[in-house]
Amino acid sequence: MWQAASLGNVRPMKRFDVLIVGGGIIGSATAWYLKKHGFAGSIAIVEKDTSYQFGCTGRSAGGIRQQFSTPENIALSMFGLKLVRNLKQEFGPDADVGFREQGYLILASESGMPILEENHAVQVANGGDNVILKGNELAARFPWLVTDGLAGGCFGLSGEGWMDPYSMMSLLRKAAVAKGVEVITGEVTGILKLGNAITGISLASGEEISCGTLVNAAGAGAGALAAMAGIDLPVGPRKRFVYVFDCPAADEALHKGPLTVQPNGVWFRPEGRNFICGLSPEEHEEPTVFDWEMDHDFFDEKIWPALAERVPKFEAIKVISSWVGHYDYNALDQNAIIGRHPQVTNLIFANGFSGHGFQQGPAAGNAVAELVMHGAYRTIDLTRFCYERIGRNEPLFEKNVI
Ligand SMILES: Cc1cc2nc3c(=O)[nH]c(=O)nc-3n(C[C@H](O)[C@H](O)[C@H](O)COP(=O)(O)OP(=O)(O)OC[C@H]3O[C@@H](n4cnc5c(N)ncnc54)[C@H](O)[C@@H]3O)c2cc1C
Repeated sequence: MWQAASLGNVRPMKRFDVLIVGGGIIGSATAWYLKKHGFAGSIAIVEKDTSYQFGCTGRSAGGIRQQFSTPENIALSMFGLKLVRNLKQEFGPDADVGFREQGYLILASESGMPILEENHAVQVANGGDNVILKGNELAARFPWLVTDGLAGGCFGLSGEGWMDPYSMMSLLRKAAVAKGVEVITGEVTGILKLGNAITGISLASGEEISCGTLVNAAGAGAGALAAMAGIDLPVGPRKRFVYVFDCPAADEALHKGPLTVQPNGVWFRPEGRNFICGLSPEEHEEPTVFDWEMDHDFFDEKIWPALAERVPKFEAIKVISSWVGHYDYNALDQNAIIGRHPQVTNLIFANGFSGHGFQQGPAAGNAVAELVMHGAYRTIDLTRFCYERIGRNEPLFEKNVI
């Protein structure tokens, strides 16, 4: 009698074949591609913030480009581009992420030109549709740009631009949920292990959930999540500021312009009838507090002077809003870490995208799905992005981190 009553009060532990921690673009894409490719097992996403307002994805600038120095990054972004181009076939006639194919323009001074040309050669060899523009060619194509001090720029003729990151993330997650993926609201505070195998997770609520495979898709929280399993992952938050400004003098050419990156790293692009801009702080200025407080002095002192010098129409602008986001920063080499842990083999990483993970989310999710289902990559060989390079201290640097 006692036993029956007692058992009646015990809820059996939930179990999923694949448990994904984090429901941002990476976690959502992983769930979607598992389902799309016919994975028959059970899948859940565990997410602590189901408003998705603090995650990296919703705070991203939504950019997509082929202007990288690492061939894998070009391939990952091109996969994302293909999805954007086939959005309605994939998700239905109402699917729309507001893609603006206005290109990226990465500018270089004399000293930066060799590296720009080297990167351009890699991009073209890997299918990028970019051109190098010099001197008069730059001025002719972008009449709003002051070309003094510039040796040239690399411009994306097609396949580059920006879109609404929140919409893309939501499309992927809703499509996954429609095919049976469960979303569990809760913060993972512990990882359960038996020897070298992960057996499940525990939540802040005290609930425990068991799993076959655990996918770390925790964005800027990925390092903290790995630490719960006693695993070192050099991925943590880096605070970034994005400013929205109005420029009454801007003409149609400027509004139709590309995302432009100046040699000093200041970037800007049109956003509706306004513009957005930002700059990654130098290493010694990196904020050490990971809150949501905005730094307006950073705009006044570092960004606005550079904007006004390069684009005279930006001399009279007004910041009308701004937001803070936390990059999912890989301190080793600013490239993604994708793949299984070599010993804890039922743990898969998809982390450390360092500011380019929105555009790479669909491809990264597809890659993780391939690892789960086939034990190997089938679409893009991401072997060089493996976790093992951290232990070997063999960085694979991406030179174009914006
Ligand atoms: C200002 C800014 C601009 C950017 N611009 C671009 C751009 O133009 N193009 C581009 O490609 N990329 C850009 N990025 C980078 C891009 O946003 C990220 O690389 C990408 O969104 C990472 O996706 P994610 O799913 O890994 O992370 P997230 O979207 O952060 O998702 C991770 C989720 O995990 C959850 N989580 C974390 N820990 C736990 C836990 N313990 N328990 C439960 N849930 C947990 C979080 O709540 C979060 O929702 C930008 C980023 C920022 C901040």
